[in-house]
Formats: sequence, C-alpha cells, structure tokens
Amino acid sequence: MTDDEALQKLAAAVPANVREVCARLSAAGHEAVTVGGAVRDALLDRAPGDWDVATSAHPDHVLALFRHTIPTGLQHGTVTVITGRGIESHVEVTTFRGEGAYSDARRPDHVTFGVPLVEDLARRDLVVNAIAYDPAHDRLIDPFGGRADLDARRLRAVGDPVARFTEDGLRVMRVVRFAAKLEFAIDPATEAAIGAALPSLAKVSRERVSDELRKLLAAREPSRGLVPAARTGIIATIAPELAPQIANADVWAARIDRAPSETRLAAMFAPLARTTVDEVTARHVDREVVARVAAIAKALKFSNAEAEAAAMLVGAAHATAWAPWNPAEVRRLLRELGAKLRPLAIALWTSAAVRPNSPLVAEARRVLDAREPLAIGDLAIGGQDLVGDLALKPGPVVGQILDLLLTVVLDDPTLNAREPLLERARKLALELGDGVH
Ligand code: ATP
Ligand code: MG
Repeated sequence: MTDDEALQKLAAAVPANVREVCARLSAAGHEAVTVGGAVRDALLDRAPGDWDVATSAHPDHVLALFRHTIPTGLQHGTVTVITGRGIESHVEVTTFRGEGAYSDARRPDHVTFGVPLVEDLARRDLVVNAIAYDPAHDRLIDPFGGRADLDARRLRAVGDPVARFTEDGLRVMRVVRFAAKLEFAIDPATEAAIGAALPSLAKVSRERVSDELRKLLAAREPSRGLVPAARTGIIATIAPELAPQIANADVWAARIDRAPSETRLAAMFAPLARTTVDEVTARHVDREVVARVAAIAKALKFSNAEAEAAAMLVGAAHATAWAPWNPAEVRRLLRELGAKLRPLAIALWTSAAVRPNSPLVAEARRVLDAREPLAIGDLAIGGQDLVGDLALKPGPVVGQILDLLLTVVLDDPTLNAREPLLERARKLALELGDGVH
C-alpha cells in the first residue's frame, strides 16, 4: 500500500464528528490525531471500532474547548466529548502521556502529560496499534513501522518486548487475541518474550483476562491465538488445571475452530472431560466434570451463565466416544441437557476429532428433528389435567407423577397421548398414596 492509498483510506474512514473534534483542537493550536485500533482497522479494510483521539492539549483545555464533555478518566487524561445524540456521538480524547514504572504489572505508577506524540505512541503495546493519523493535516505518524507490519501481517511489541510485557501482563493476552482476530503472525522475538511475562500475567485481574479470551474465542480461527498461547505457557498460567490435559495443542485448537461460537468455551475446556468413566456415567452428564469446569470458568470470571453452559457441555462431551446408543438412552441424555443446550451439545460432539459422526450424533439429531418429547412441558397432559380430570390435590404429588410419566415417555414416545397418560397417572396416584378423591 502506498502512502497516498493509506491517506485516502484514512481520510475516507474517519467519521465526521471525530474529524471535527480534531479540527477544533488543531485550530486552537494543539496537535490532535486519531490513533490505535480504529486507525489499524481502517488501514486493514476492517470495520473500525471506536475512534480514539490523542492530543497535546491538557485535559483542562479539552474540557474548556468543548461545550458537552464528561471527565471520564481525568487522572489518565481522558475526556469524553459529546458531539451529538447517543453513545455513537461520544469521542474519547486522551492527552498524550508518558508512563512511569509499572511496579504492580497492572497499571503505571504515574502518568506524565506534556510529552510529544512519539512518546505517547511508544507506550502502546503493539507496533500496529501505534500508528497515528492527523485528519486536519492529512498526515500519518508512524515512527515504529506500523504500516510495514500491517503489510507483513506481523505483530511486534513496541520497543523491548520483555520490558513491555513484564510491565503490563495483559499485553501477552492482547498479542494472542490480535493474532487470532487479525490473523497475523507473532514476530519470533515478541513471542519469545511472553515466557518472561507470565508472572505479570498471573497478577492481571481475571476479568480482563477472560475479556481477552472471550474476544479471542470469537475470532474466525481461535487456533491462531490459542496455539501460541499454549506453546508459550499462557494457557498454563490462566488455566493451570486445563493445560496438563491438552495432549496436543494443534488438535485441541483445531477442534475449537470447528466448534460454532456458542460452544467455543466448552470446546476449550473439553480436555477436562473424563475419558474413563463407568458404564452408568457414560450415559449421563458427568456431574463431577460439570462441577469442576464450572468452578474453573467462574474463577476466570466468565459469567455464571457462560460458565454453567460450558460446564454442562463439557460434562456431556465424553458421550460421543461411546457406542452403541439406544434411542431411549439418547433421549435421557438430551433431557438432562435441557432445551437450550441440546443443539449445542450436538455441535460440540460433531466438532470432536474422534467420532464426529458417532451413532450418538445421528440419533440425537433424529430425536430433535422428530420433536420427540424430552421434558415435562412436552407431555400430552399437564398438571391441570391431573387436577381437573383425576381430581388430584394440587401439590408435590402432581409434580412427581409428571416426572414419572416423562420417564415412561422417554422410554417409549408413542405413549405420549392423553388417554394412556391419564390412565397411568391414575395408577401412579394410587401407588403414591394420594387417593383420587
Ligand atoms: P479493539 O479493536 O479491541 O478496540 P484496540 O487496539 O482499539 O482494539 P483498545 O483496548 O481499544 O484496543 O485500546 C486502544 C489503544 O490503546 C490500542 O490500540 C493501543 O494503542 C493502546 N492500548 C490498549 N491497551 C494497552 C495496553 N495494555 N498496553 C499498551 N497499550 C495499550
Ligand atoms: Mg478500541
């Protein structure tokens, strides 16, 4: 890409309100540039996310220059300028800053304003994230060779990678996330620095780690970040229980690529499924595994919903290795999973390298396609029928009877019809001692 092409792309991509914010700062005698992810994405022809503005103006001057502002993070030099209606009109303007030491590997001890743009770019994580564009003067500022790295599809740390990664351990997560998201290769010297930064990564809040992991798993091919993450010890640092279970990182990551996005977290934890279980456990969700995976995912600060869904799916993951399956066994397993997770379990089984088309998968698909009854709600009669037709007292016995009816119907779906079920219910009511009155 020539300079002219790059400038044309950026000139076309910068939104009008961002351009106006830069123009006003510029007219007041300050430097004002767009920088970071949006510049990078615009040059790559990817849809840019938020446009960040960096300026030589002190935050007080930014506050004074614009009518509507929010002092979002004044101690870091960030002011939000409101340029219209709605959140899309918000533009974050951050004063050029240099950073002091990071004694806690999480945030700098102090920031300094009044530094030149090149110093602000020097504190950024990756060379491709350290390109600035000045819309008022139609000028690119690229002191570290960011455009060359975009052309080479390469990720390099700005400056000395060991120093940059150890001062902020989150950066190694960002590297593997961008490797997956941008489909870029990690430069060997940058990858080699990750090992030294693992103690710093261990100090980063789990929320920030899982935010990066979530973004990585949403990429087209997470393997592009997960394989280097496994190779460098990132996985062992963030999920020490998982890492030893990964026999082959390429096989593990390729399965995650094949898994649809809603099942990626489960695919990641799939090596935690137990391969040697007894005959009974083999036919059911493995509750021991569910508990273990849920605890690990919650410790990593995935939401309860994310953690519990992934855990159930991993708890069912072993099932695909088993054969044969009879239809009633498959229906009982699908019932345990619940309506929402059933198609996801099938997708996860299908992503397995071993037996992707197991008899279980074929039978589970057939059961779902045929809409065979798998839950109390699918039964041909409900609680009202028991209370109305059989004159049962509303109460726990009604629920017990419905549970037993479902057991019968899971064994033989042809019994799911009103009359035969009422007949059985009547008998069950007598057995359970709640006489029909
Ligand atoms: P995304 O597309 O996910 O928003 P981004 O590159 O814009 O990617 P942000 O987290 O929005 O990422 O950060 C904006 C910019 O701030 C980055 O491009 C980078 O220049 C800088 N930056 C963000 N996090 C760090 C960090 N931990 N260390 C150094 N620089 C960082
Ligand atoms: Mg961004």
